[in-house]
Amino acid sequence: MKKLGFGCMRLPVLNHDRTQIDLGTFQNMADLFMARGFTHFDTAYVYHGGKSEEAVRDVAVHRYPRDAFTITDKMPMFNVSHKEDLDHIFADQLKRLDVTYIDYYWLHALNATQYEKSEQLGAFDFILQKQKEGKIRHLGFSYHDSPELLEQILTKHPEVECVQLQLNYLDWDSPSIASRRCYEVAEKHHKDVFVMEPLKGGALVQLPEKAQKLHHAIRPELSIASWGIRFAASCPNVINVLSGMSTLRQVEDNTAYMENFEPLNQEERDAITKAIAILRSDPTIACTGCHYCVPGCPKKIRIPDDFALYNEHQRSNGLSTAPYYYRTTNVGFGKASDCIRCGACERVCPQHLKIRDLLVQVAKTFE
Ligand code: SF4
Ligand code: SF4
Repeated sequence: MKKLGFGCMRLPVLNHDRTQIDLGTFQNMADLFMARGFTHFDTAYVYHGGKSEEAVRDVAVHRYPRDAFTITDKMPMFNVSHKEDLDHIFADQLKRLDVTYIDYYWLHALNATQYEKSEQLGAFDFILQKQKEGKIRHLGFSYHDSPELLEQILTKHPEVECVQLQLNYLDWDSPSIASRRCYEVAEKHHKDVFVMEPLKGGALVQLPEKAQKLHHAIRPELSIASWGIRFAASCPNVINVLSGMSTLRQVEDNTAYMENFEPLNQEERDAITKAIAILRSDPTIACTGCHYCVPGCPKKIRIPDDFALYNEHQRSNGLSTAPYYYRTTNVGFGKASDCIRCGACERVCPQHLKIRDLLVQVAKTFE
């Protein structure tokens, strides 16, 4: 497998509606991806409001031989309440994808809470059984918690073959995400690593100008995104780096430098170290736009959209049109100041953001 995978959680959409995937554009993107020798698609039950799996079916499963590509799909443990849910969700996934087997299958977004639930409901036994039945080829989980818990899970579950980790240069040594330490635990247990958020939800594409100049001075021909993807792909146990591509241009760019992948050299690593220092002084919110926090908010606050507008405003030194957009696009949704501080969003945020406090900042800026 080539080291770049197609993350299907940020596909092009129509009418700004996450559930209306622009299949024509996605098809062109997938065709170029496949034509350049890349073969892996990553989807999940919850991506695009449940429409991502069907889109993968339409552009890959129904148009290419089954052995020409591989798929990762995931059991949404955060939506599972009873043991029986495992069966009906898995059956639904095979139906949505129109496949008889799934190449890579993860328990989705394990953290301390979801891990405990997975043990209580027998989710590890469930996926192992599906593997014995030939419906899953490789077992794993995607993960958002501490290296210590990862060590505990991998010790208890040697049957797991792969882990999907948030790994990027900004989170490499961060205390909350701890990409490096999590990667080292996976390496110690000889697990194949799939990488998610190599660009931290786009934060490592929209770098401050100073950091962009650093990169361009060394490799002017390479895009800013390439530095994040290549950083992750340079880790020896990483077998696939997922990029959530939304445009044909992004596919063209990513596949061009990943077609004949070259790991980072020392000069490039030094430039990244300097870029990290610049980024750490950036006043923006480290939201990756995953939307996990949105469905559970009782006040219907558009948390990631509000954070994106806030970031845009910070980067423009207060000169952007973000305040206008904040007023006009929030009609029918809660404002940041409507937050009742229930904490439901923070319990599911994989970035461990202090969303309640950050919304106070957003409200002060825009209201
Ligand atoms: S803490 Fe505020 S933003 Fe978070 S779920 Fe509750 S109301 Fe929504
Ligand atoms: S606030 Fe957290 S959960 Fe919500 S979109 Fe951002 S990163 Fe995801």
